[in-house]
Amino acid sequence: MNPTALITGGSRGIGRGIALELARIGWSLVVNYAGNRSAAEETARACVEAARSSGQDIRVEICQGDIALAEDRRRLIEFGRERWSRLDLLVNNAGVAPVVRADLLEADEASFDRLIGINVKGPFFLTQQVARWMVDQVQAGAPDYHPKIITVTSISAYTASVNRGDYCVSKAALSMLTPLYAARLAEYGIRVYELRPGIIATDMTHAVKEKYDRLIAEGLTPLPRWGEPADVGKAVVAIAQDLLPFSTGEVINVDGGFHLRRL
Ligand code: NAP
Repeated sequence: MNPTALITGGSRGIGRGIALELARIGWSLVVNYAGNRSAAEETARACVEAARSSGQDIRVEICQGDIALAEDRRRLIEFGRERWSRLDLLVNNAGVAPVVRADLLEADEASFDRLIGINVKGPFFLTQQVARWMVDQVQAGAPDYHPKIITVTSISAYTASVNRGDYCVSKAALSMLTPLYAARLAEYGIRVYELRPGIIATDMTHAVKEKYDRLIAEGLTPLPRWGEPADVGKAVVAIAQDLLPFSTGEVINVDGGFHLRRL
């Protein structure tokens, strides 16, 4: 059986990049999406095609579900369990930016609650359910089973953007998920990682493209280019392929060196 991954928000952007890179190395996938079914279908087709081009035969399923909702998270897990006896990798990727970027002094509670629900509560409790499933599989003695959990946060976890404080707070909170679950699940051999992307070309950043074009040209990132979804996908592949076997709870920056302090 091919190894299997569940990717939240796999229909577009970074999640799609992760799905494509995993498909290329022969992983079967559940691609979750919130509302954009046609994008999810297109990603699924592209994954099967990418796998075929590298001589792999994989299964890709799509599953609608709003990760902020308990009922949808349960349905997503059921969907996976009905199809596969085991899950090798969860990628907590789905996340949203505020609909309106508002100055900190004008920030509103509805946007804050929405971001906390999708960016923090969703992955926190989805990870809990997946972790229980993985622990069951470890205890059942599944052969050659090395499960992993990856959470996509952001440079916003430590960078103050005063026009989207709700997003920064949500990503800072989400960062705590990895040390918590890494500590809790180590005894079962389940490894847990945080990927921290920088500025990546997706629908999320499209509206601020000119601003970031300028900042990158002015030297914002030591590697002077936009990140691509595939950059994050390749970091996921390194973890999926067990290239970091003695690391857990680790933060991996995928940001062109944005995090470096320079003088
Ligand atoms: P994107 O292009 O806007 O795509 C978002 C994806 O998440 C879509 O697949 C969307 O599904 C899904 N989604 C949104 N809300 C959801 C919900 N409630 N439940 C389930 N799925 C949901 O965003 P992106 O730029 O790829 O961002 C992906 C992740 O990377 C986010 O966590 C984001 O915070 C993080 N990130 C992005 C950047 C960047 O520069 N782009 C940088 C750092 C971190 P539909 O297609 O159905 O709408």
